[in-house]
Amino acid sequence: MPIKDLFSNNRIKSILSSLLKNDIIPHSMIFSGPGSADILSFAKAFSKSLNCLSLEYDFCGRCENCVNIEKGIFPDVRILSPEGQYYRKAQITYIVEDNFRKPLTGNKKVYILKDSHKLSENSSNAFLKVLEEPSASNIFILLTNNLNGLLPTVKSRCQIINFQYPSKPEISKYLINKGYDKNMANILSNLSGANIDNLLELDFNSFIQKRSNVFTVLNKLIRKIDVEDVLLDLYSKSGSREKFLDYFRELVNLISLFLRDIIVLKLDKESKYILNIDYKEELMSLCKYITVNKLLFLIKKMEILLRDIKRNLNTRVLLLEFIRSYTTKEIEDV
Ligand SMILES: [Zn+2]
Repeated sequence: MPIKDLFSNNRIKSILSSLLKNDIIPHSMIFSGPGSADILSFAKAFSKSLNCLSLEYDFCGRCENCVNIEKGIFPDVRILSPEGQYYRKAQITYIVEDNFRKPLTGNKKVYILKDSHKLSENSSNAFLKVLEEPSASNIFILLTNNLNGLLPTVKSRCQIINFQYPSKPEISKYLINKGYDKNMANILSNLSGANIDNLLELDFNSFIQKRSNVFTVLNKLIRKIDVEDVLLDLYSKSGSREKFLDYFRELVNLISLFLRDIIVLKLDKESKYILNIDYKEELMSLCKYITVNKLLFLIKKMEILLRDIKRNLNTRVLLLEFIRSYTTKEIEDV
């Protein structure tokens, strides 16, 4: 399977192919992009191309090296993940010590670091050593969906490759190939604007369930019924900070799409541009409870909240701000 058959991001495929053909392989690269861009597959494909036994500037996917890299058992291609919330110091120390050892069986040794924004400042500083003293046969690919989480000193020593979110038709086609029916594939690809992480690995049924729960929350907030219950329910989820932030980000993302759909319906009942097409009737029934101005205000507020989640604000503050934006009568300038 050649590089050109990877999913989406055609521009990046050309860049990688050209690096291989011209033999200008950067010592360290950052693959930065949203989860659904499948940056790990690109990193694996690049590692295979550097070590493939059949093809020179591409990979076959069938030779022993390609197969073993895919299985994660090729000794010269290591895929690392943070052990716990951050990379452990021992993981980085190992990489630093291993930097000058030659590849065991392959042509190039590749280290792929998943979630590389989870390198602590200490680990990053230790890691800088290998970036500053490149070894000819070793390559580092740092994967991240949060480029700002990496130290500037690390970023400045790497070639940064920015991946794009796949387009709607690409996602739709991918899902149909995966066995989803056309209708479902369209609904999901429509919702891809929500920046759902790892859309490609999404469990569709659980996603549908989540979206239904989110609609219940929004329904209560807009009709102003049982708002205290909503608040209490959200509070009860805020035990584990990291899990809560994931949940909250998804909630705000999906709510923003519902809000957008309500505006579209308020302007034109017959519009074809609704994303949650299967919720049309429910959304229509909410139209009379809310003005366009309030909807625009809420959408802006949700954007601000998403930024605040990234800024790691206190979960309680986030929650109260969320609820308040629905309950307040005023429409503030945001
Ligand atoms: Zn191969």
